[in-house]
Amino acid sequence: MNNLKLNRKKFLKTTTLAGLGVFALGIEAKNASNTSIYKNDLMPVNGKFELIPLSYSYSALEPFIDAQTMEIHHGKHHQAYVNKLNEALILMPSLQNKSLEDLLLNVSSLPENIRSTVKNHGGGHWNHSFFWKSLKIGTKMGDKFSNLAAKSFGSIEQFKANFEKASMGIFGSGWAWIVEQDGQLKIFTSANQDNPIMDAGKDPNRIPKVLLGIDVWEHAYYLKHKNKRADYVSNFWNVVNWDEIEILLK
Ligand code: MN
Repeated sequence: MNNLKLNRKKFLKTTTLAGLGVFALGIEAKNASNTSIYKNDLMPVNGKFELIPLSYSYSALEPFIDAQTMEIHHGKHHQAYVNKLNEALILMPSLQNKSLEDLLLNVSSLPENIRSTVKNHGGGHWNHSFFWKSLKIGTKMGDKFSNLAAKSFGSIEQFKANFEKASMGIFGSGWAWIVEQDGQLKIFTSANQDNPIMDAGKDPNRIPKVLLGIDVWEHAYYLKHKNKRADYVSNFWNVVNWDEIEILLK
């Protein structure tokens, strides 16, 4: 009787948390890769991925990122990636219990009929889930990151200049990323919703640890900055959650 009660209580707690996007921590721990600490947030629940609520308000990043952009970006764009990913996975029930990172790490090995949808919409779900957690006003670059940046780029200023240049150099829609790999920081750019962990499962010892990404799709900045991507990119440093990056570097 007591066991039954306890199990029921535990079950309710788990399902309630899952409803909030906090999914069964530890389930995949034995398979955990070093790609990010967010792996377990992106487990499907009953075969479906869910939009994770923001841990802050839509206006929390004002004046650098406006509330209306955040509301549309999270509530409409990100939600659409989640919906289309789920629609595709209905065609492939055997994949519906895999974490999103597991799918992306070997995305080119997925069946052809869902591969591009998982890449585009699964990538969209992973990238945005990661992005929201990377944003906060008022944090300062930590020692671990600044030491690595100085070692990898010569100076913090040079790192920032290189990252801004990479963000500006993306033709059309995409992302610029900072990853740690082989003890160095590296800048990656990707088109569309691609990201540095896609197909990185082929070389499990060198999976890049994603630390930060900037979404340079026009939907990320057009309402506030119109066509001026450079203004959005230079303002981005004001909203980087450096505390989160220090945690990722542990
Ligand atoms: Mn976006």
